[in-house]
Amino acid sequence: MYTFFKKSVKKILPENVLIRNEFIIRKILSVFYTGKKVRCNVCEKSFSRFIHLENLDNLCPRCGSLARHRRLWQFIDREASFQPDHRILDFSPSRMLMKYFWKLYPNYVTTDFQKNILTDKNYDITSISEPDNTFDRIICYHVLEHIENDLKAMSELFRVLKPKGSAIIQTPFTEGATYENPAITSETDRLQHFGKEDHVRIYSVKGLQERLDSVGFSVNVFGYHEEPGNFYGFKETEYILLAQKNQ
Ligand SMILES: [Zn+2]
Repeated sequence: MYTFFKKSVKKILPENVLIRNEFIIRKILSVFYTGKKVRCNVCEKSFSRFIHLENLDNLCPRCGSLARHRRLWQFIDREASFQPDHRILDFSPSRMLMKYFWKLYPNYVTTDFQKNILTDKNYDITSISEPDNTFDRIICYHVLEHIENDLKAMSELFRVLKPKGSAIIQTPFTEGATYENPAITSETDRLQHFGKEDHVRIYSVKGLQERLDSVGFSVNVFGYHEEPGNFYGFKETEYILLAQKNQ
């Protein structure tokens, strides 16, 4: 039903109208999912079920959060000690989470190298145009797997973080060792080897941790596995790295 609803609305309304009225459209949609069986921890609403997408992800009918958004939101709350006065930098942020960050954190800055019109900045993560020790927290989700010189990017994250600051980092992961091969450059080959046309490697959890360690971070790895009932619609398995700048 959701796919039909989405296609129908897209046919009727231009994209800019859709984005402006997303809140009201989702509010109407969520009526069809009234219930108490599952709960979204981002918009704090309960439903009969999540919307099951073709890629098996669980979409919140009300706020549009996906499984990884809800896990990140929970992680920020439980592990990352965000404070209202923190300066926060979010690389490649999710459109649906932005409005929740804006509400809670006045010093929340968004950046996207692709010149996304919704973000504040277009920083190159390998050369961030900010002084040393600028941010208290950084969110770097699904970015490093796109970056050829990832060690430079990690050094830049370290440089712009304040002492005691931390970065929340996630990428797709593989078992075993990190896999990369600079000879693989075409989109077709990258899709086949790394899982997406614009990915340049696939990290292992340990491999990513070691690279972050090598630029000075102290890294904690948090592993999550699906709980019975999956009340919050999380992914089956998910890893998040919390990289701390100690000095
Ligand atoms: Zn929600």
